[in-house]
Amino acid sequence: MTADRQPHPLAAGLLPANWDEGTPDPGRLAPEHAAHVGELQRAGADLAAFFARAANGLAAAADLPELDERHTTLLGRERGHVTLALGDLPHVPLEERKRLGRAYNLAKRWLGELEAAQRRALEQEREARGAGMLDVTLPGRRPWVGHRHVLAQIREELLDLFHGLGYSVYTSPEVEHEAYNFGKLNFPPDHPARDAHDTYFVSDTRLLRTHTSPGWVRAMEERRPPLRLVFPGRVYRAEQVDASHMDQFHQVDGLFVARDVSMADLKGTLNTFARSILGAGVRTRMIPIYFPFVEPGAQLDASCVNCAGEGRTRGPDGERRCAVCKGSGWLELLGAGMVHPNVFRAVGYDPEEVTGFAFGMGLERIAMVRHGIPEIRLFLENDMRFLSQF
Ligand SMILES: [Zn+2]
Repeated sequence: MTADRQPHPLAAGLLPANWDEGTPDPGRLAPEHAAHVGELQRAGADLAAFFARAANGLAAAADLPELDERHTTLLGRERGHVTLALGDLPHVPLEERKRLGRAYNLAKRWLGELEAAQRRALEQEREARGAGMLDVTLPGRRPWVGHRHVLAQIREELLDLFHGLGYSVYTSPEVEHEAYNFGKLNFPPDHPARDAHDTYFVSDTRLLRTHTSPGWVRAMEERRPPLRLVFPGRVYRAEQVDASHMDQFHQVDGLFVARDVSMADLKGTLNTFARSILGAGVRTRMIPIYFPFVEPGAQLDASCVNCAGEGRTRGPDGERRCAVCKGSGWLELLGAGMVHPNVFRAVGYDPEEVTGFAFGMGLERIAMVRHGIPEIRLFLENDMRFLSQF
């Protein structure tokens, strides 16, 4: 065969014209593509034109079978255009042979690289499509849906309950002035009651609030009675962390200030609260306790939910002391009392005119009592085995 009688195998006209159609863009597969065309141009315009159409054909292959077919057309071991051209080289005059041989081999290598790159692109496309495909015969996979943290659930439940009793929500800063956290709540300077609140100070006079009660002071300074408010929020104490102490936890305080509010009103409110949270059968008792901001102060206990207040439980191995209430039959639920006259004076209310009650509870405490949770640290550990139970 001679090159001047038959078309040379590397003639662009031998490749289907539709390989150039659309926007094949071989540069997407090989950033050097334009430079490659330029380099082959120096070996001959025909070769460069052939290479350009061949590259377009590979880049435009719509799927793997089409890519295989075009690859065979160009580089097939028997009849591939480039293969034929290389096989024809011995018939080329010696002075041309070296130059053309180098150019053909470059074209062969670059087309091989384009083919491989397009193959990877098509395979990725196929995988991506496969991932989105729906096999309706497979059993369904239920999507994992989160839910609210047990403390958030209890907070919502409590706010709902108190909303029903006419209370609205008041929020106040977590970084608080010493005066609001202590002074105006009738904690005298250097009084040992302050020591019960191991405190994170952030400056000489500012601290991370140790309770949500500073909200009372802020609310009373802003508003005139009657007031009926709840104060949910996070509080901080420099506690040694153990099974029943954390250095941050959550409280909900409540405050009711009006004329002629009495201890009986407090007791009625707290009983409603206890039955709603722990069940209608729960019994409560109030025992005296000291808090600086109330007088008298009380602790509300509820009958143990684990042993129904008996202090003992019966199991397969006989009767034993109730582990939840440690045998007492009672669980400490919250602190409460009648607002101290000094607190009213500090906010400019006249204690002869108004009276009020207040209460404060720890959300962790309520959750532990209600669900028999033995460890306060579980609330913050983000262990799904724990959290998914609620
Ligand atoms: Zn018990």
